Amino acid sequence: MIERRRTRPLKVGSVAVGGGAPVSVQSMTTTKTADVDATLAQVYALKGSGADIVRITCNDADAAAALAEIVPRSPVPIVADIHFQYRLALAALEAGVHGLRLNPGNIRNPAHIKEVAIAAGERGVPIRVGVNAGSLDKDLLEKYGAPVPEALVESALHEIHLLEEVDFNDIKISVKHSNVPSMVEAYRLLADRVDYPLHLGVTEAGPPPAGLMKSVAGIATLLLEGIGDTIRFSLTADPVEEAEAGRKLLEQLGLRERAGLDLIACPSCGRAEVDVIAVAAEAQRVLEAENLPIQVAVMGCVVNGPGEAREADIGIAAGRGKGHLFIKGNVVRVVPESEMVAALLDEARKLASEGVEARLAAADGDAEAMAEQAASELLASQGDPNQVRELRERVARVARGE
Ligand code: SF4
Repeated sequence: MIERRRTRPLKVGSVAVGGGAPVSVQSMTTTKTADVDATLAQVYALKGSGADIVRITCNDADAAAALAEIVPRSPVPIVADIHFQYRLALAALEAGVHGLRLNPGNIRNPAHIKEVAIAAGERGVPIRVGVNAGSLDKDLLEKYGAPVPEALVESALHEIHLLEEVDFNDIKISVKHSNVPSMVEAYRLLADRVDYPLHLGVTEAGPPPAGLMKSVAGIATLLLEGIGDTIRFSLTADPVEEAEAGRKLLEQLGLRERAGLDLIACPSCGRAEVDVIAVAAEAQRVLEAENLPIQVAVMGCVVNGPGEAREADIGIAAGRGKGHLFIKGNVVRVVPESEMVAALLDEARKLASEGVEARLAAADGDAEAMAEQAASELLASQGDPNQVRELRERVARVARGE
């Protein structure tokens, strides 16, 4: 269980952020904001992929005007992304957005920042102070010589100070960096200085898989330390991938409930009785369409499969041309190998509607015995892994001269 840092609560539209609220997933549209239908279609797709909040660029007057149409039709709160032109922040507020993101690196006139804060305060709209290493205030760049973590934090604190001067406290902050250790350090420093909620992200992470690795490395490190109230994977990819990745990360860390399928599979080894990669891919394809909130295991052999995956709700293990279907580690049915995935799908549906106890009660009487028989035949032909382990230890002892 992760002990989360205590932060001030705020609301982005209907979504609570900070103050112990569930960590929320954000993503950003890539359409031209002025194209209302295309932007709304992407917002709906992002919502369907796990995004709680969607950010939309407000980069000109046409974009601001389009927000007036987009916001009331959006299924999730909308944050307007503002760079350079504070008037567009005022226009976005007029359009009814639920949040603003201001970049302190390119909106630098204190009077303008305060004017936006006062207008946002009147409407109860929060502001994210979104510091980005790539667009850091040039005075700070000169002072520090590089966008080091301390410079990012100083930029954020300076902007927060301006907002606080007009009694504006509905603030969340990001200090994004494309270098993972620098990003992690910046957020740690910031978390020591303020109790505002933090929005985590590795900026310009790039395309998957490297972009995913960078984002997971930075965001998960901080979340495991209890730092972070809302997250975004900044991938060079369809933003739907960002939302899905963000949602999955939170589920894996136990910070959000599983909304859909969690398919686990053994890595396969020489003992595998089936092409685990192909079976897992096929199982993922058919089960994902069902969107069942269960954990499903695909295991390469019946010798170790049901035991190793006993925590899974349901699973299948191959052996001697058969598929051994198991629920919570108990083998309930044995089917021909060619029917493995179909049987898994059928049982998953029943499990989701009837529950574990009912499906265990409906198990075939001879399934466990058939699985044991297949496992012992495999052991006879491939060797008992426990005995092999003992042998390895004996060999290692001999090698050490013990
Ligand atoms: Fe190998 Fe069987 Fe374990 Fe898969 S379940 S890794 S095939 S021993």
